[in-house]
Amino acid sequence: MTKINPAYHLKNIQHYYGNTKVLDIDDLKIEKGSITGLIGPNGSGKSTLLKLLAFAQKPTLGQIFYKGRMELPFSTSIRSKISLLTQKPYLLKRTVFENIVYGLKIRKEKNNLEKRVSKALLHVGLDYQNFATRFWHELSGGEAQRVAMAARLILKPEVLLLDEPIASVDIESAGLIRQASLNARKNWGTTLVIASHDLQWLYSICDHQLSIFKGNIFSTGVENIITGPFEKSDQKTFIKKLEDGQIITLNAPSQTACTAIIRKKNICLDLEKQSGNGHINQLSGHITSMLLEKKSETIMATISIHDLSLIVLLSPDQIGRLDLYPGKKVILNFHSHDVEWI
Ligand code: ADP
Repeated sequence: MTKINPAYHLKNIQHYYGNTKVLDIDDLKIEKGSITGLIGPNGSGKSTLLKLLAFAQKPTLGQIFYKGRMELPFSTSIRSKISLLTQKPYLLKRTVFENIVYGLKIRKEKNNLEKRVSKALLHVGLDYQNFATRFWHELSGGEAQRVAMAARLILKPEVLLLDEPIASVDIESAGLIRQASLNARKNWGTTLVIASHDLQWLYSICDHQLSIFKGNIFSTGVENIITGPFEKSDQKTFIKKLEDGQIITLNAPSQTACTAIIRKKNICLDLEKQSGNGHINQLSGHITSMLLEKKSETIMATISIHDLSLIVLLSPDQIGRLDLYPGKKVILNFHSHDVEWI
C-alpha cells in the first residue's frame, strides 16, 4: 500500500445541529497535494464537512488533525493557510481590487499589490485593466465567483475548499475555475477538496472522490444508493418495486435501516438475461453515460433503469467485447446478498 502524507486526519467526528446528527466520520485522511471530490445529494453534509475542514466550525465530537497537529477551530494561524470558497461568493461592497487585496491587507502585506492582483486575476481569466476598478455589483455570477477565487489564490493557500464552485456560473467560468484549481496544486502544492453536483466537471479535476450520504462517507468513489420504500417479502428478503414493474430483491437488514448501498464493484453487465436463481437481480436498462476514471483507467458507466440510475465499472476490454456505447440496452446483475444497509 502506498504511504499517504495526510494534510488532514479526521478521527471520530460527529456533528449535530440541535439533536440531529448530520456527520458521522470514524476515520478519514486527505492526502497533501491531492484533489478530492465530494459527491452527495443535497443535505448529505458536504458543506458542513467543508466548514469543519476550514476550521470555521467546531465538530460536536472528535478531532481534526492538520499536518499531524490537532487544531482547534477559529485559530488564526491555521485559518490563514486554509481558504473556503462558498457557493454564493461573499464579496465586499467595494471594487474588485479591494476585494482581492483584502486577505493580504489582513496579513499586513503591502508589496507589489497591483502586480499580485493582476496575476491573481489572470489565473481566473480576468484582465486587470477591465476588472480591477469594477464594483461588486458590476459583475456577472461567473465573474463574481472568479473574483472570489482570485481573492483566495492571491494568498497561495495550503488548502482550498470549494463548495459547489460552478453551481451558478457559465461554461467558460467553470473551465477557468477548473484550470485555476489545477494550477494551485501545480504551483503551490495546494490540497483541494471540492463539492460539486457536476460529476463530469468534478471527475475532470479530481484524483479521487468521496461519496457522502446522510453524513456517512463511503470509501472512495461513487457508490450506488437505493432508497426506500422497501417491502418485506419474507423474514430474510426485502424488495423494491420500480415504476416499470421490475423488482429488486435484497437480503434484509439486521437492524432498522432504510437505504441500501450496492457497491459498483459488485455489479456486472451483460447483454441478455441468464437463467439463474432468484438471488441474482437481473435488471434491464440502458447506458446513459460513460466516463473514464483517470486513476484506475476504468470506465464508469451510468445505467438507467427507469427511475433508478446505477453506476458500474467496466474495463476497456469489456467495452470492446460487448460493444457498449451510450444508449445501448444492457442487463445489470448483482447478488441480493451484496447489499449494505444504512
Ligand atoms: P449539503 O452541503 O450536502 O447540502 P449540509 O452540510 O449543508 O449538506 O447540511 C447537512 C444537514 O444539516 C442538512 O439536513 C441541513 O438541513 C442541516 N443543516 C445545515 N446547516 C444547518 C444549520 N446551521 N442549522 C441546522 N441545520 C443545518
